[in-house]
Amino acid sequence: MLEIIPLVLGPASTNCYLIADPNSGEAAVIDPAWDGRVITTEAQKRGWKIDQLWYTHAHFDHFAGAAELVEALQRPDLPVALHSADLELLKNHGLRKGLGFEFALGPLPSVDLAAIRVLSVGDYRFQVRHTPGHSPGHCMFYCAQENVLFSGDLIFQGGIGRTDLPGGDLDELVESIQKQVFTLPDETRILSGHGPETWVGVEKCGNPFVGT
Ligand SMILES: [Zn+2]
Ligand SMILES: [Zn+2]
Repeated sequence: MLEIIPLVLGPASTNCYLIADPNSGEAAVIDPAWDGRVITTEAQKRGWKIDQLWYTHAHFDHFAGAAELVEALQRPDLPVALHSADLELLKNHGLRKGLGFEFALGPLPSVDLAAIRVLSVGDYRFQVRHTPGHSPGHCMFYCAQENVLFSGDLIFQGGIGRTDLPGGDLDELVESIQKQVFTLPDETRILSGHGPETWVGVEKCGNPFVGT
């Protein structure tokens, strides 16, 4: 079974997910939100080797721990996957300006999610689903083998991502949810960028912001 360690990190209480194939010990980090050393310590405790970082999008609260993480691992070359439509956002420190947070950018993306359909961790495959609306390059990662969707800031339990930030668009966001989330099996577990987990079937019936 895919192992998933959720960590709530940073000033926006972002969900970072450390995921691994326990058989091989291969691990990836989805959204290294803050406190890179906390993430690497969790991996080391379990004997896992983090060899990739995946960003759902480039708001600072989803990658601000990356620089500390690669420093802790002594892997400045660690591959980072991000959709190229969010690259400018990343280079602008993910809208950190004016909020008073300081952090180094960490490694620049080396894997463009616009050009990639599938990512892997050991024996587990994840479909990359481009879902603009919250940010232009926002992507989700869906593992059909495990019925789990990492939804970033597209959809939350009973909520949706903000669309008032630069590059946000409410119509696009609703369309992304309808086409890329609500078409998945009802029993798909949704692990989002903030707040508790939910399920596709639950949100299809109960999310007040999106019709089916
Ligand atoms: Zn965001
Ligand atoms: Zn966020």
